[in-house]
Amino acid sequence: MSKPLETASPLNLKDLDREGLRTAFVARGLPAYRGDQVFRWVWRRGAVEVAAMTDLPAALREDLERSARLPRLEPHATRASPDGTTKLLVRLDDGRDVEAVLIPDGERRTLCVSTQVGCAMGCAFCRTATMGLLRDLRPWEICEQVLVAERILRARGERRVLQLRGRGAAGKVERRLTNLVFMGMGEPLHNLEGTVTACRVLTDPQGLAFPPRRITVSTVGLADRIEPFLARTGVNLAISLNAPDDAVRERLMPVNKKYDVDALLAVIARLPLRRRQRVTFEYVLLAGVNDHEADAERLARRLRGVSERVKINLIPFNPHEGADFERPAPQRVERFRARLLSGGVEKVHVRRPRGEQILAACGQLAAREGGVG
Ligand code: SF4
Repeated sequence: MSKPLETASPLNLKDLDREGLRTAFVARGLPAYRGDQVFRWVWRRGAVEVAAMTDLPAALREDLERSARLPRLEPHATRASPDGTTKLLVRLDDGRDVEAVLIPDGERRTLCVSTQVGCAMGCAFCRTATMGLLRDLRPWEICEQVLVAERILRARGERRVLQLRGRGAAGKVERRLTNLVFMGMGEPLHNLEGTVTACRVLTDPQGLAFPPRRITVSTVGLADRIEPFLARTGVNLAISLNAPDDAVRERLMPVNKKYDVDALLAVIARLPLRRRQRVTFEYVLLAGVNDHEADAERLARRLRGVSERVKINLIPFNPHEGADFERPAPQRVERFRARLLSGGVEKVHVRRPRGEQILAACGQLAAREGGVG
């Protein structure tokens, strides 16, 4: 019989990507393909216990039951908004909570996930920033937010079975979510390894098989981590820009002292993008701070060298208790958008406010519930 999977702490079968599971099994004297089998059981077939993995030898199943774990997280609270947006507060094993937001839109089901408890980046307009960074999420805690949302959709009677094709990936997968955005609590590239592993699990054709183009990871712009991150995951990138120049950006986002606008533009100019792929610049519009027409003109000028590589997502600020900023009037938002377009920016989108009644901007519910300490 193979060497048991005893480790100092039990092996968490949800915390490794497929390659990691293969390596863990080989290290225990088992063939690597056992790692593939377990990975498929966990992610493709939704096994909640090792006993269900019926094509593993009985001795290996017994061994895994003793020495490995398949943890699961549950929502601690959910809040649904009349527009269908649902905020999930997911309780972690240490009693802390993180947020995920489910956003239905026509056929599309998008989930916004968190990567850290709190955040160290200190953006001036963000509720999560007031918590500071409490800890990184483990890869399985990021992926589990997806499974929690899937279970909620299933309980609502939503059914979607995808037939996957391709060598090694063929088969059926139940997946109701269509898109994932990493825009919840935390800075994904600050938790680089956790986010990379989670993306690899979520996009693995033998797992939940999200196409990488259906996942967008949003960063404040940790410029030196962007290229290695994309090379390892192939997902889409969004960068929080929020200002037309360094002076305004530095006031809103302390990270700009280290990675300024030029550093970000230089990275974007050399990224190997797929055909028609663009990097999204997110721009939270704050009344009287960064929403002047002159700001839009300066921004358009600044983006001239990369205009076919980017699109801009304008996000009118979602005010929260104690915030120092206000949302601009719709006419101001429209004028800002028009100035960008006339300045040569090809793609500008204004995000519709969603889930305002349930505090859907990142960090707002967890902060109010006090579940992050
Ligand atoms: S906006 Fe994002 S990166 Fe900035 S403080 Fe909030 S959670 Fe962190």
